[in-house]
Amino acid sequence: MDYDIIIVGAGPAGLSFARSLADSGLKIALIEKQSEAQLAAPEFDGRDIALTHLSVRILKELGIWTRFKAADRPSIKEAKVLDGKSPYSLDFDVKKGSLEELGYLVSNHVIRKALFDEVQTFDNISMRFDLAVTALSTNDRTASITLSDGQVLESRLVIAADSRFSDLRRMAGISASMHDFGRVCIVCRMEHERRHNNIAFECFDYGRTLAVLPLAGHQSSIVLTAPMDQRDAFMGMDNDEFSRDIQHRFNSRYGEMKLATKRFAYPLVGVHATKFCAQRFALVGDAAVGMHPVTAHGYNLGLSGAAILAKEIVKAVADERDIGAMALLERYSRKHMRVTKPMYHGTNEIVKFFTDDRLPARMARKVALRLANNVPPIKNAIRSKLTQTAEGGSLLPSFFGSQ
Ligand SMILES: Cc1cc2nc3c(=O)[nH]c(=O)nc-3n(C[C@H](O)[C@H](O)[C@H](O)COP(=O)(O)OP(=O)(O)OC[C@H]3O[C@@H](n4cnc5c(N)ncnc54)[C@H](O)[C@@H]3O)c2cc1C
Repeated sequence: MDYDIIIVGAGPAGLSFARSLADSGLKIALIEKQSEAQLAAPEFDGRDIALTHLSVRILKELGIWTRFKAADRPSIKEAKVLDGKSPYSLDFDVKKGSLEELGYLVSNHVIRKALFDEVQTFDNISMRFDLAVTALSTNDRTASITLSDGQVLESRLVIAADSRFSDLRRMAGISASMHDFGRVCIVCRMEHERRHNNIAFECFDYGRTLAVLPLAGHQSSIVLTAPMDQRDAFMGMDNDEFSRDIQHRFNSRYGEMKLATKRFAYPLVGVHATKFCAQRFALVGDAAVGMHPVTAHGYNLGLSGAAILAKEIVKAVADERDIGAMALLERYSRKHMRVTKPMYHGTNEIVKFFTDDRLPARMARKVALRLANNVPPIKNAIRSKLTQTAEGGSLLPSFFGSQ
């Protein structure tokens, strides 16, 4: 046996999962097709990731949170949801609740860099770069992979963390439902004249949606979604034209706005695997569930799923049980699925509801926003889902051994 566990994909999910098992004594390999240089100094990719309270708690336990500088983890204190041209908003804030922050924003490349640096400090985790996996085979005792350089590696368990378009998922014969929204998400950062006061805006404008999320100083993260056939028009605009367009779309709330980074375009495709495990094999991160970003839950679910699986494995190590046993993997699959399924389908329904511009849907949206604003149980339920506060206690008893 070359390793106890082989993780394919050193993205945020694969790295977090490796770190969560670092203290277990298991021998772990991370296989990544990108180069070491790309992982050691990841470039800004336009994504500023909204992290929930549960995710912050997990990142603290993993020793990652303290690696972020204060300016790299600005908080969200208020959130406003607007529909069409109406000034009416559904509001969430910290004053009326018991929280100090609704959540935090950390750039994807900052998360990846911190995880990479942390994982490098453990001798029992080895990273192999510039390698893809070309084949997977499992039997009741072992799981092996073939690498693009012809090497075969054997382990007790293989974990796929190789993105929502996971090759490993296909190799393991796990099907997935995919939903192509036919839309594109364009992300970037912008500077603006006025202060944002740590307010996050989600504006469901007709035909397009615009999220403006507070970063450090006078900067915000911009997430624009539009039909895919408008991608080239938005990406082709010169910087001034794009800046004016966003400022106008945002009703000049922050005064003059100016593009501060490159723009990045992501096609919007949601993916949910039908199960998260097979013989000596499991899916984590986007390979298990790849979310539409509107509810900002992709990486948050990746983190909580990895925590559930790591907890099962740590328990098995302590009890000297098989870490690749089917019963263990199925327990993980069931527990994680219980969280992901409603979140995935709920998010897709929200997208459908807020991008349907026919009159009955517009009317229904007006009613829905007012209902959510004025009926406390509805508002509290939405708040706890978005911030992941209610689940925090039960899902993650401290098991990483760091406290
Ligand atoms: C615009 C946008 C905004 C988002 N905002 C949020 C947000 O606010 N909050 C949130 O929680 N989530 C958000 N997300 C989702 C979040 O970015 C993803 O959930 C997260 O990046 C998934 O991490 P991952 O490690 O599973 O996959 P990835 O980041 O896709 O990483 C997969 C890794 O596997 C490697 N790989 C792939 N195939 C192979 C192979 N065959 N062999 C070896 N290596 C391989 C890749 O090189 C890569 O390093 C957003 C996503 C987008 C697009």
